[in-house]
Amino acid sequence: MIRERPQSFNEVPMKERLTIPRQEMPEQDAVERSGNFLEVNLGLTPEQAVIEAQRCIECKKPTCMDGCPVSIKIPDFIQLICNQDFIGAADKIKEDNSLPAICGRVCPQETQCEEVCVMGKRFEPVAIGRLERFVADYAMNHGGSDAKTIEKPEPTGQKVAIVGSGPAGLAVASDLIKEGHEVTVFEALHEFGGVLVYGIPEFRLPKVILKEEVASLEAMGVKFVKNFIVGRTMTIQELMAEEGFDAVFLGLGAGLPRFMNIPGENLNGVYSANEFLTRSNLMRGYDFPEWDTPLYRAKHAIVVGGGNTAMDAVRTAKRLGAEEASIVYRRSEEEMPARNEEIHHAKEEGVEFMNLVNPIEFISDDQGSVVAAKCLRMELGEPDDSGRRRPVPMEGSEFIMDVDMVVIAVGNGSNPLIAQTTPEIDTNKWGNIVADDDGRTSMEGVFAGGDIVSGGATVILAMGQGRKSAIAINEYLRTKVGSTS
Ligand SMILES: Cc1cc2nc3c(=O)[nH]c(=O)nc-3n(C[C@H](O)[C@H](O)[C@H](O)COP(=O)(O)OP(=O)(O)OC[C@H]3O[C@@H](n4cnc5c(N)ncnc54)[C@H](O)[C@@H]3O)c2cc1C
Repeated sequence: MIRERPQSFNEVPMKERLTIPRQEMPEQDAVERSGNFLEVNLGLTPEQAVIEAQRCIECKKPTCMDGCPVSIKIPDFIQLICNQDFIGAADKIKEDNSLPAICGRVCPQETQCEEVCVMGKRFEPVAIGRLERFVADYAMNHGGSDAKTIEKPEPTGQKVAIVGSGPAGLAVASDLIKEGHEVTVFEALHEFGGVLVYGIPEFRLPKVILKEEVASLEAMGVKFVKNFIVGRTMTIQELMAEEGFDAVFLGLGAGLPRFMNIPGENLNGVYSANEFLTRSNLMRGYDFPEWDTPLYRAKHAIVVGGGNTAMDAVRTAKRLGAEEASIVYRRSEEEMPARNEEIHHAKEEGVEFMNLVNPIEFISDDQGSVVAAKCLRMELGEPDDSGRRRPVPMEGSEFIMDVDMVVIAVGNGSNPLIAQTTPEIDTNKWGNIVADDDGRTSMEGVFAGGDIVSGGATVILAMGQGRKSAIAINEYLRTKVGSTS
């Protein structure tokens, strides 16, 4: 089927488009920003956005869309930017992605849409993520919103409970409210947004953006209930049998921190990344004493790990005043799962990278506080199951370094609460909920998606799974009505 695309006002001849340089996004100065929590990236200007959009060569087969887990109509929204219809461009994205201001900031575009952009074969790819961020911010600042543009559907009278307000849950809420169902999001914490609010720091994703997105869903009719732990406050069975929910979506995330199981991990001054980032982000520890959650200002903070979580933690430690902040990672930089941009920004801010190093013990003073880390140097062996080369300890390489704060960022598992309280729902050996491609679990009427199914992944993958589940829930509710009428 041929899609109708907006008419392009891109008057730049095709040959010239190839010579336009990719537009750099302005950012805060590295020295200045390493002492504050304000956003690092400042966003493209409207002029830059139009120039960047004019780089798109309007491919007949837009491979960029194949690289996007939610299939945003990328060429269409870019054409609308060429036409200077920025709100139209934001609305075009919102047809497939309810959180563009967030995805424009945190999606790993370099391994998704931009990786397969045809321009990228010979030149630099079109900066799709920066454009997405630009139009989403523009629409937010100029009054464009779902609540105003989308007509309220006929109510179906059917109720859906969404457990967890992370990107998976928010994506389901956005899709199902548009179908006319009554949608309630239950969240265990006192703020909505999941990792977007408690994990990713303000300097990468300002909380006000998330508040706007949640407010926009509220304006569309989604109900939000906080401080409500499904499995404790009420079970899934109770939600369905007593509160009359016809279907339940579980977007619980993977919020259970993993540890290294080495001596000294329980010392004072050793945190899981979850605790450390939650204290800083959710409890506003970075605003102490304005807010009352203290966070230690270290002389030497080390963060163990090489993912986005590790980068967020080490850059937070630096901003909290650590004299030295280091990443300690057992493989080399090439194997680091963190986004290139985060590694680059961390380096600019003065973070030291100790690659091919692995702690084997944390050592305490007589008060029980960490004062040193015993480490081994590593070298890379054969690839392991993940396809990355396995780190192997080097003989006789043990050394001790002074540290007074350690953050462990070696991954997260799933919280066992739902599995314990709802044995009807099958889980696998890692505790993840077993669900089919459309999110159906082993319990009738209960669907699941995001990190609780896939294990720790990305915002856009969680949203993609949420959207698939929304289609399946809608289908389920339709057949349920059919079978009872
Ligand atoms: C520090 C950090 C940085 C990251 N950076 C990036 C990045 O830059 N780009 C990217 O794409 N991905 C990033 N990720 C990964 C990404 O954030 C996750 O993949 C994504 O948030 C998963 O979404 P989700 O909706 O499945 O779960 P979550 O975002 O984890 O949300 C789950 C929500 O469910 C709630 N909940 C759990 N159990 C219950 C219950 N029983 N009752 C009620 N509520 C419950 C939780 O409190 C939470 O709010 C990062 C992850 C972390 C930890």
